[in-house]
Amino acid sequence: MKVTLSVIKADIGSVGGHIKPSQAIINSVKNHVQKKGARLLKDFYVSSTGDDIAILMSHTKGKNNEEIHKLAWNAFVDGTEIAKEQGLYGAGQDLLKSSFSGNVKGMGPGVCEMEFKERPNEPFLFFAADKTEPGAYNLPLYLAFADPMNTPGLLLAPKLSKGFRFRIMDVSYIKGDRIIDLKTPENLYEIAALLRDNERFVVESIYSKDGDIAAVVSTTRLHNIAGKYTGKDDPVMLVRVQKNFPATGEVLSSFSRGHYVGGGMRGSHNMPLMPVKLENQTSYFDGPPMVSCAAFCVHKGRFTESLDAFDHPFWDYLRNKVSRKAFEMREQGFSGPAMLPYSELEYGGIVEILKKLDKGFKIVKKK
Ligand code: MG
Repeated sequence: MKVTLSVIKADIGSVGGHIKPSQAIINSVKNHVQKKGARLLKDFYVSSTGDDIAILMSHTKGKNNEEIHKLAWNAFVDGTEIAKEQGLYGAGQDLLKSSFSGNVKGMGPGVCEMEFKERPNEPFLFFAADKTEPGAYNLPLYLAFADPMNTPGLLLAPKLSKGFRFRIMDVSYIKGDRIIDLKTPENLYEIAALLRDNERFVVESIYSKDGDIAAVVSTTRLHNIAGKYTGKDDPVMLVRVQKNFPATGEVLSSFSRGHYVGGGMRGSHNMPLMPVKLENQTSYFDGPPMVSCAAFCVHKGRFTESLDAFDHPFWDYLRNKVSRKAFEMREQGFSGPAMLPYSELEYGGIVEILKKLDKGFKIVKKK
């Protein structure tokens, strides 16, 4: 049977600053989806990572389905009412439009979806990241799907050795979806050349050479929608694993570098990405940027219980390493690579300061 997995996520308010949504709004979103989604959905799972709430849904209505998107939108609208009643910080901050029109794309919430024919056993991973941007997944996806140093399956499993097709989006383009398809191993260097730039080029999806969907990432750029800074586009991702795709451990291992990504405090810094346990909250420097992973199997559209893929002593060791990397970068304060480049700060206060100072500059004439 063909099943669609849809993840729609939003920050609709949190307790104590940007720490974590209140239990009341998480419950409200859950109740809404349960009540109103009974007829539409095969199954669903509501979770939080940092200050974001994500709704994972399985159904048979395909991608970009209006009813499914409206269900999630209305669940976030309901939750926002509670967030306002509770006086939560940033209540409704990701709901950038006042009314729903057909599709949540371009309205604030992040969305990623995949439709596929279920294999007899269908394991998949659901990633949710906070305090960072969609390009945070670029390096892990490159490592997991294209680098035998990370993924021995590329050498050991003939189905993986055929390679994959990366669909990469230029997220600086705002008139539509500007994409390019590149194949591994043929276009390995071209893919690396694009994925180097996490702010601009983002892996949107990955397919097997037979055309089976393997991974999808939410690629929204909130500041392109709102025209001003409204928070980072904390990305969600779905990855199918095993058999014709990388093994679960290969995909997880691609997160073991704690690589530096854009995000952290005010979405304006370079900080390492920390793999965290489910329902983790933000802390140090409004971060550090974090990624959680819930592992599932889906059968006839029904989910198993979720397993917390980063809840293991190995990841405690890595979290310590990432904390050290975070601290080392923070010792830089505002200097050089600690903060994002000017183009990424375009909508922040620093632009105002520079504009004001610009008038104060004088050109000294040579005598
Ligand atoms: Mg967030």
